[in-house]
Amino acid sequence: MVIEEHLIDAHAHLDELADLTESLQEAKAAGVHGIVAVGMGVESNRKVLQIAEANPRHVYPALGYHPWEIKEKEVQVNLSFIRDHVEEGVALGEIGLDYKVKVKKELQWRVFGELLDMAFESDKPVIVHCRFSHRRAFEMVRERKIKRAVFHWYSGPVDLLDKILAMGYFISATPALVYSPPHREAIQRAPIERILLETDTPVSYERREARPKDVRVSLEEVAKLKRLEPSLVAMQTTANASEFFQISLP
Ligand SMILES: [Zn+2]
Repeated sequence: MVIEEHLIDAHAHLDELADLTESLQEAKAAGVHGIVAVGMGVESNRKVLQIAEANPRHVYPALGYHPWEIKEKEVQVNLSFIRDHVEEGVALGEIGLDYKVKVKKELQWRVFGELLDMAFESDKPVIVHCRFSHRRAFEMVRERKIKRAVFHWYSGPVDLLDKILAMGYFISATPALVYSPPHREAIQRAPIERILLETDTPVSYERREARPKDVRVSLEEVAKLKRLEPSLVAMQTTANASEFFQISLP
């Protein structure tokens, strides 16, 4: 089978993979010619930069500080690392707010705010994680005049989605479309011009760990939901991601 579509996985935690080499080969064989590797904290960001350097024009790094990883004592070292390396990444991510973790909201707001300021100053897009915090996360992104933002794996309220889209922001589609009603509803509602495809590798979907090649599952599900040809969805979402991250595929 010849795969002609060029796909981009807009969100993968490649630094967490023991089978990285194999996963990257399988991704290429499946037509996944671009992968945005997101970081969680200093160690993860270091690895992400190394993986991207070892795989030029296939892996693109994003530097982040995930709300799950925030510890008061480590905030400065994390923010400084990102500030020092911000130009090496195609985006800032994964960053955001998560009200289900035991990290004080005030601390999460402060860290997210500083990261958004860095994104604004360096004119980088942001990859936003939000859980039970969608409105606040959106308000913070908007107030800081961020131009490019993707609300990753969006499963939040529909009225807020309309505001996100009205600002020109994106949402991303994961393989959870197979079973998650709120995620399906969001993807159905958003125009194809505002959707990126991703896997959130190595998250498990129905007890199977994802790899970047599974961005094809996201593709097939978006195509079914929108009653569009998969080739058209592939073309449009890859164009979206290329422009969003300012990367051009080989
Ligand atoms: Zn993630």
